Amino acid sequence: MLTQAMANDFGQLVQLDDSDSGEGNRDSKIVSEKRLLGMDTVSLAARMLEIGEPAWRGPQLAEALYRQRIAEINDITTLPKLLRQKLIDQGWEVGRPRIAQVFQSVDGTERYLVQSPGNGLDLQTVETVWMPEGDEGESGDGTEPVDPDQELKAGEKKKWDRATICVSSQVGCAVNCQFCLTAKLGLQRNLTHGEIAGQVIAVLDRHGIEVGRDRVNLVFMGMGEPFLNYDSFMGAVRILVEEVGLSPQRMTVSTSGIVPGIERFALEPAEVRPKLAISLNAPNDKIREALMPINRKWPIAAVIDAVRGVKLRSRERITFEYVLLGGVTDQAEHAVEVARLVRRSGLPAKVNLIAWNPGPGIAYSMPLHEDVEKFRGTLAGEGIPTYVRRARGRDIYAACGQLKRTVEG
Ligand code: SAH
Ligand code: SF4
Repeated sequence: MLTQAMANDFGQLVQLDDSDSGEGNRDSKIVSEKRLLGMDTVSLAARMLEIGEPAWRGPQLAEALYRQRIAEINDITTLPKLLRQKLIDQGWEVGRPRIAQVFQSVDGTERYLVQSPGNGLDLQTVETVWMPEGDEGESGDGTEPVDPDQELKAGEKKKWDRATICVSSQVGCAVNCQFCLTAKLGLQRNLTHGEIAGQVIAVLDRHGIEVGRDRVNLVFMGMGEPFLNYDSFMGAVRILVEEVGLSPQRMTVSTSGIVPGIERFALEPAEVRPKLAISLNAPNDKIREALMPINRKWPIAAVIDAVRGVKLRSRERITFEYVLLGGVTDQAEHAVEVARLVRRSGLPAKVNLIAWNPGPGIAYSMPLHEDVEKFRGTLAGEGIPTYVRRARGRDIYAACGQLKRTVEG
């Protein structure tokens, strides 16, 4: 049973559950109705028919928006000039979010403030992070914002073998995990699927990525809880898979354990379903409840039950993420309990350990290096594949749970 206080806590969540319906959600009023980005080939074709153009202009537009990554209608030279003008006159825009600011870390990570094209009302930026692997770090002390329009130097584009883009699904977050900086913002608004996919397209473009050749992974682990903005999140995934050409097997979505979201996710066809990560973060319900109030609504067993409904591809594993908070979740007995919990779940699983990243106004401590190692050793000793996630971009507040510091000051 929910107490009154808890009902208040989750009032917002419940309301989101009910009102979430993608482009038609409660935020649509602040987003231009006439953005092309976010529409798939079929809807683009339908729009073309509506304005008296042949349906085959739809695939042509999709090619321009998603494969050629063109950001202005006027630059879509595959369309006749007259048609481009007609679209512009009717108020249409590509509507691609713009990288408004870039912060570069000494480790090569870049954090972007990404701004939706605006009618003035939706000026809040979201954050997107680029994490290249295999470079030796770049210039800058990591604190200086750099000019986003500055061209990357030729050699800089390919100093990595693979890269990961960390994508946001909401501005802020309503889930209120006690250790997370994003939580401090509360939920400001949901992103539309065009805005979610648009972050990826803007970053692919910045780094000159050739889809199909370059190895790029996506993680939906930025600001927000993707499963509380489900339709927009999955709408974005569909665009990214079907139109942009990225593989869902190179995408991972992380959830704090929103059971109805996991249940819907289990119904998604394998061709578009990303991999799933669960933010476990505690060895038992008692500790988890103190850290993640959402656990009162959906405790660990309920989350694991829902995860069992996801039909995994061959060799696919569920990831359990586990934030190590010094003295709170990183002790030897916690590791033993986590190992037992993961084994008993019967799920093909791996564990990603994340040393807590500090943030202003959050009173936890980072774990000691030796405790992280011991924790990993205990899980590995129980036969559970366990990785320690490297803190990327901590110097620029780009690491897990640190997003959205600079905008709010
Ligand atoms: N809302 C989703 C996805 C975004 S958070 C979720 O919670 O799963 C992505 C990951 O960062 C989660 O596993 C979360 O537990 C972790 N995280 C949050 N704050 C953190 C912090 N300060 N240090 C390290 N990891 C953190
Ligand atoms: Fe939201 Fe995830 Fe942060 Fe929790 S950890 S507050 S769910 S973004």
